[in-house]
Amino acid sequence: MAPRNLSDGNPFFQKQMYNMIELFATERLRSLYPRIKAFLEEEIYPFEAEWLQMPFKEVEKILRAKREKVKSLRAWNPYHGESHGGAGLNLMEVAQLGELLGRSPFGHFTFNCQAPDAGNIELLLLYGNEEIRQRYLHPLLEGEIRSCFSMTEPGLAGSNPVLMATTAVRDGEHYVINGHKWFTTAADGAAFAIVMAVTNPEAESPYKRASMIIVPTDTPGFERVRNIPVMGHPGEGWHSHGEIRYTDVRVPAGNLLGPEGGGFMLAQERLGPGRIHHCMRWIGICERAFDLMCRRAASREIAPGRALGQMQMVQSFIAESRAEIDAARLMVLHAALKIQEQGQHAAAAEISTIKFFAANVLHKVVDRAVQVHGALGVTDDTLLSYYYREERGARIYDGPDETHKASLARKILKQYGVKA
Ligand SMILES: Cc1cc2nc3c(=O)[nH]c(=O)nc-3n(C[C@H](O)[C@H](O)[C@H](O)COP(=O)(O)OP(=O)(O)OC[C@H]3O[C@@H](n4cnc5c(N)ncnc54)[C@H](O)[C@@H]3O)c2cc1C
Repeated sequence: MAPRNLSDGNPFFQKQMYNMIELFATERLRSLYPRIKAFLEEEIYPFEAEWLQMPFKEVEKILRAKREKVKSLRAWNPYHGESHGGAGLNLMEVAQLGELLGRSPFGHFTFNCQAPDAGNIELLLLYGNEEIRQRYLHPLLEGEIRSCFSMTEPGLAGSNPVLMATTAVRDGEHYVINGHKWFTTAADGAAFAIVMAVTNPEAESPYKRASMIIVPTDTPGFERVRNIPVMGHPGEGWHSHGEIRYTDVRVPAGNLLGPEGGGFMLAQERLGPGRIHHCMRWIGICERAFDLMCRRAASREIAPGRALGQMQMVQSFIAESRAEIDAARLMVLHAALKIQEQGQHAAAAEISTIKFFAANVLHKVVDRAVQVHGALGVTDDTLLSYYYREERGARIYDGPDETHKASLARKILKQYGVKA
């Protein structure tokens, strides 16, 4: 069956999407994909430039109205199962939708599958007891509240997360939490944080010392010190990274997720599919930047009758970007398929590979698109400066490039007898 309504007015992009959906789409995706694409084209893309100049809290009000429309499209919570009001897609299908939604800075948020909530929803689905589900999971699934994930600390290397100073000490029916975190994305306006804290300092394995605990943000002792400015952008609401102090924060012991000392085990559950989500969102961004680059190459004359796109070096940017984006997509879909069929443990090498490969493709494609735009590329008159600023972190969060490369190389070399 041929896909319907896949054009966004750009013949090349239409063909790309056609190829992809022809190769990998299921009937379910063929039905959902064009509806979501049409919605983005009509309700989101035309307003992005304006929204990016507005305070996020104002944009959030507009997006809340858009979210109601999304619910009526039966496309709400596309990453979650049907019994949780979602689309019931498998990881391969989710990945392909993730790319489509990633083509807009507002795509994931409008469909309620934005980070960090999507990952937190998965954790609560797997480990939340009935009370937690009622109080935190259901409002998240309905999009009534937001959440955040609080693990990284300013004073210790986040790339070695077992280094953790935040503690949660059991006191009767409560945990008392003390610590200092930062880069808690979307803490501003979140109803609760999932906090990683040391509960079992005596455990032999450092991977069994920390736990995940839900902390409502209105608990006394929870202090959002500031939104951390990122490359000149102060950040606000969902679109922010918070510095948080936890001072004698007392929460019920029932707010523990999973077993005590099981925090890193839970984090692994969250990270495998989460990396597929991030990588496919980045590929969506790459396609957007690629499209802008091609349009500029076609429309900008550098001499009378000579388009920028006639210059070989610009053609090289375009050809290399095309090849790299397509390679990254296939690698991510392969990793998604392996997780889907064999579980994330079996796909550990593929997950590391896509994390650094796709983040670097994103970095290169956005940079080339900025270059082709000249001075315009560094202004806020296109989406490119937003991507350049906001997505530099892709090579750092969820494991910096270097840790994933080291992990992959160790796995490979182990087969050649090289000790870790
Ligand atoms: C945009 C963004 C959003 C984030 N969101 C969240 C969030 O919601 N919640 C949360 O808890 N945290 C979040 N983080 C924090 C993120 O997880 C950490 O920044 C990351 O784990 C790296 O830790 P670090 O910043 O302390 O860097 P460090 O650990 O100090 O590492 C610094 C650099 O050292 C190098 N390096 C590290 N290890 C090695 C190695 N083994 N070999 C060679 N080089 C190495 C890498 O280049 C790395 O970038 C976010 C970060 C960013 C940028």
